[in-house]
Amino acid sequence: MSRKRTTARSTQAGTTNTFLTLSLLIVLSMIINACGPGGDEPAASDTQEEAAAAAESTDSESGGEEAAMEVDLSPSIYPEPQLIMGSRAVQKLSLDQILTYKALDSYNEPDWVSDLVADGLLPPVEERLPVEPRVVLESGMADGIGVYGGVWRDFSACPTEGFNRGAGQSAGWFGIEAAAFASLLKSGPIYRRSDSLEPLPYLAKSWEWSEDGFELTMHLLEGAKWSDGHPFTTEDVLFTWEDMIVDKNVQSPKGASAWMFNDEMTQLEVIDDFTFKFVFPVAFPVQALFQMDESDFHISPAHILKPLHPKHNDAMDYVDFEASMPPNKVPVVLGPFVPVEYITDELMILRRNPYFWGVDEAGNQLPYLDEVVFEKGPSGVGRTLSTLAGSADHSNLENPSTFVETLKRAEEDDAHFYVEWGPEVLGFSIKMNLSTSLGVKDDRDAAVRELFRDVRFRKAVSFALDREGIAQSILRGPFLRGWAGGLFPGSSYFDRDTVAYFNNNPEAAAALLAELGFEDTDGDSILNWPTERLASGENLVLALVTSEDAEETQTVGDAAVTLLGDLGVQINVRPLNSAARREMTEAGEWEMKVDRDGQVYAVPFTRCTDLGPVTKEYHFHREGSEPRELLDFEQDLIDIIEAFCVEPDTDARKELMAEYNRLTTENVYFVGVFIGRYGLAAAKRFKNVPAGMPVFMYQWTWDNVMSEQVWVGPAEQIDQLRPGVIPTYDSE
Ligand code: CA
Repeated sequence: MSRKRTTARSTQAGTTNTFLTLSLLIVLSMIINACGPGGDEPAASDTQEEAAAAAESTDSESGGEEAAMEVDLSPSIYPEPQLIMGSRAVQKLSLDQILTYKALDSYNEPDWVSDLVADGLLPPVEERLPVEPRVVLESGMADGIGVYGGVWRDFSACPTEGFNRGAGQSAGWFGIEAAAFASLLKSGPIYRRSDSLEPLPYLAKSWEWSEDGFELTMHLLEGAKWSDGHPFTTEDVLFTWEDMIVDKNVQSPKGASAWMFNDEMTQLEVIDDFTFKFVFPVAFPVQALFQMDESDFHISPAHILKPLHPKHNDAMDYVDFEASMPPNKVPVVLGPFVPVEYITDELMILRRNPYFWGVDEAGNQLPYLDEVVFEKGPSGVGRTLSTLAGSADHSNLENPSTFVETLKRAEEDDAHFYVEWGPEVLGFSIKMNLSTSLGVKDDRDAAVRELFRDVRFRKAVSFALDREGIAQSILRGPFLRGWAGGLFPGSSYFDRDTVAYFNNNPEAAAALLAELGFEDTDGDSILNWPTERLASGENLVLALVTSEDAEETQTVGDAAVTLLGDLGVQINVRPLNSAARREMTEAGEWEMKVDRDGQVYAVPFTRCTDLGPVTKEYHFHREGSEPRELLDFEQDLIDIIEAFCVEPDTDARKELMAEYNRLTTENVYFVGVFIGRYGLAAAKRFKNVPAGMPVFMYQWTWDNVMSEQVWVGPAEQIDQLRPGVIPTYDSE
């Protein structure tokens, strides 16, 4: 059936401009994530250590000008990142320092909520809370126990289709989902954990694997309630599983295929009201924990939706069902805030959920804030503009063309926001096509692929790059720097000692090209193929594809033309749009490409098979009609990745990733170019925003911050739009 879906994560074309004269040359625009489910990203790896001098100029002397025999081909040391002013390191804590589940002697609520209780409009707070609420601990709070009141003003550039997220609808992204909905587990704050890289408990307070690893038993918080006061139980979990996830007619955020292993389906069995288990066809599919976090296993209210589901209601079809939680009706949810008012394309007002099942250590029911307001606008840039103008309290800086202006404004005395930079997880790299057959049409293509498969050539390309120069030409200052490839330096799995950094050493590059037999035999300054590699002996000319959607890939392409050109390698650059790039990848008809790399190098575990050529569709070593001829180290990578995907122990996973990173960078599996950071702009009045919080790691800001713990001091609180309002429902 055809149905509208507005949830596509559109990667907006970068409208790069070179305006900002000054000394700040900004070419590009990076990612602008518009209407997509939150991204994820890796735990911050405390990137800012001291290491003030991060110049990476070192070992690039060496070679004499004679025959390039004595050139030093060893990698240089990968530097520590530069400290960025105003940024704080993440304070890593174990889970038991961040939160727990326990009963407290007594509970509190805002006075105005107590008034509603006194008027008989709500049950007393202890009856609204679970037996053992989720307790956010003071030891994990940046500014300690908070006070009630206050507003968070934000901005959404995506349409609100409705609140039936489990059937694929979008509530408007930009944090609306994170504010209103709750999941079994929560990945957003993993970056804060020192003890493990697993999701944090949320509606599920604990879980355990059977000894053989085939069963995973989950324990729900007992006695939590939906925002209308109805109990939350395994009835909701079972409904979500059977009638949303497994039902192919429902467009769940993640469907049944996410729960298939070796073509066999996982089973879910309810044990009692608060306990259920998964029975897996394989042992220890630990990644399943990441299928239960934000936006995946979307817990849907059975008492609302089951009577409207076509399987249980003949009068309904799936289109009606999807639309059965419309944007103009107060939804029944489990998150800390409930949308109570929506003016199409203008404004959404969310108020505290009086049934939210979390408290602080002093027994104060959370959230602290009374209200969240999302202004609606047509474009994500509006969020930054509204933040600059003072009407929004938060923006994610993901587009370097706005970095400078935002920073300048933040430095003014009357600015209401600060800027903080997250870990280094924004990477760009050059890939070479390693397939021996897919897209190969003639002798030259075959020779090019063989060349790419020779580590000496990949190393030569890497040595040719002056990464610092490239990074600074894109954005001056400490925001971008060189990157070797492999894991992002901001990943929790990153270990600097495993990096082989072949950087900015043109003599080494020239020596390697000479060793490969390339020589300019006809005096036109372009190296010629050795005839034993390509009989024609023609000039070495290679094609490099960049992306129209990410302007900085074109900057990298231009730099490659110059730097490789200096060595006698002619590069022809061609920008393509994302659709054309996808076709090109599928047909294998490309030689080199510049990529903006994905989340896998930041949070490798959440999509581990993308780390290397595990599947036959792997983008730069893809199978065609002939079987792939894997390089020796590629088979080693696959072995590492397959072990990693099913390794339950975090330390063991880290060791595997260390080996992965060593192999990847020593073999220059792909050529990393530069790495950057996302920035957070947030209101100065907000308390308890964790230090060094990334805007994008496993998830985006709203999931990373734990919004229920954010508070504002009484003197700084601004007026609420709907003071005294709680969500109310028609009782039928
Ligand atoms: Ca030549």
